[in-house]
Amino acid sequence: MKLTAIFFDLDETLLDTSGCRPPAVEASFRVAAQKYPQLNLEAWRKASEEVKAEMHDLWLNSPNSGAELLREGSYRILKKLGIDDREFATHVSQAYYQAWVSHLKLFPEVREVLAALRGRFRLGVISNGPSDIQRYKLKLFDLEREFDPIVISGEVGVAKPDPAIFRRALELARVSPPEALYVGDSPVYDIVGAKGVGMQMVWVNRNSLPAKKLEVKPDGIVRDLWELLTLAESKKS
Ligand SMILES: [Mg+2]
Repeated sequence: MKLTAIFFDLDETLLDTSGCRPPAVEASFRVAAQKYPQLNLEAWRKASEEVKAEMHDLWLNSPNSGAELLREGSYRILKKLGIDDREFATHVSQAYYQAWVSHLKLFPEVREVLAALRGRFRLGVISNGPSDIQRYKLKLFDLEREFDPIVISGEVGVAKPDPAIFRRALELARVSPPEALYVGDSPVYDIVGAKGVGMQMVWVNRNSLPAKKLEVKPDGIVRDLWELLTLAESKKS
């Protein structure tokens, strides 16, 4: 079937977050260590990783804002290190987030590829995460106007790979699954999710992961979005 709509994942598909976490963890440590000089960076890093793992599911689909989740995360890190200071956790989380977003990048080809697709396909976003943070990322790169609809798990109460979030986006765009393509990097959230509702799916495999290991096969594999452009053109006619 002819392709009319393309939906994108955000993180690691359009946005490169790979350089965000290490400086953010260090920035939050620096703020925490000003008040609590007994803290050390290695223990802080370790506690941060533990809290990240503990809170993974909350980040996918929580009614809480990202700001609240970040505060809770900082509180838990402090707590693991023997400090019970909920009020101060707010400052720590703000330092973390400021550093995190300052290292956020758009993949280099994104603007040109979107410009080439614009007006030829309906373009949308389906993203897991809290509303405030995902919207902030889109605003930061002036991307909100590129996409309609923008469907975010924290807003709709259901997260990828649940079929319901994909169906919601398809309904809003008024397109049937086979005429829609989903573009994402995650084998589980993106490939399993999109194929589960019968959408076409292109896997963005920027890090050359072995495709053999995929449990559900995508319809195409690209190394970057330039390759997606070529592929979308071939499906248009
Ligand atoms: Mg992703």
